[in-house]
Amino acid sequence: MGWLTDWRRRRVLRRHRLDEALWPRLPFLPRSSQAARKLKDLALLFLAEKQLTSVRGLQLTDAMRVSIAAQACLPILELGLDWYSGWTGVVVYPGDFRVRRTEVDEDGVVHEWDDELAGEAMPGGPVVLSWDATANDPYMNVVIHEFAHKLDMLDGVADGRPPLHPGMDARAWQKAFDKAYEGLCDAVERGRDTWLDPYASEHPSEFFAVISEAFFEDPKETRRRYPDVYDQLKLFYRQDPVG
Ligand SMILES: [Zn+2]
Repeated sequence: MGWLTDWRRRRVLRRHRLDEALWPRLPFLPRSSQAARKLKDLALLFLAEKQLTSVRGLQLTDAMRVSIAAQACLPILELGLDWYSGWTGVVVYPGDFRVRRTEVDEDGVVHEWDDELAGEAMPGGPVVLSWDATANDPYMNVVIHEFAHKLDMLDGVADGRPPLHPGMDARAWQKAFDKAYEGLCDAVERGRDTWLDPYASEHPSEFFAVISEAFFEDPKETRRRYPDVYDQLKLFYRQDPVG
């Protein structure tokens, strides 16, 4: 981004301070004071540049805004806010929401159905979140999940591979992710219990979003079970949450 954005961001950081009492007590947020400071600054900029709105009568409090911002900014802590450029909206529903899906099959027949969702990331559009899932679902981190989709979509397709940094090896990425994804799909097909949410077997893009949640929330176990994927995520996010 250009000098104007830099100037605006410096001004936001000079003029605003995050109320420490609002900072969420989430065990996976960085504990080192330097990283925590950096995340707080980033969250402040996120709140200045993104538009958080609530629907269906949900009252969005400052604490809720800060919680969403903190979790959304964790994946881009070492990448920067420009990785979320090109869109501004974050829409928060009180609970899961229904969306109408339409698909036209090979015979030209239109199929329509309703999906019940905890979150959605629209290409070039807003991120939609269920507050109930954000605050209460112990099995998923819907914020990290949807924002990981946003990173994945940056190169135009949600295929489980975000734009990699110069020096990263696309083949090594693909090899690590293909093996992990196929292994999970196989286990799910056989009806086995899986450590990773079986939803990750729906599509490579879901695998990337779900394993990104695990990378930040349970990095040790992610590294133990998926060492090659962990290494690639470490290079991409430029963070090593195991420390
Ligand atoms: Zn998803």
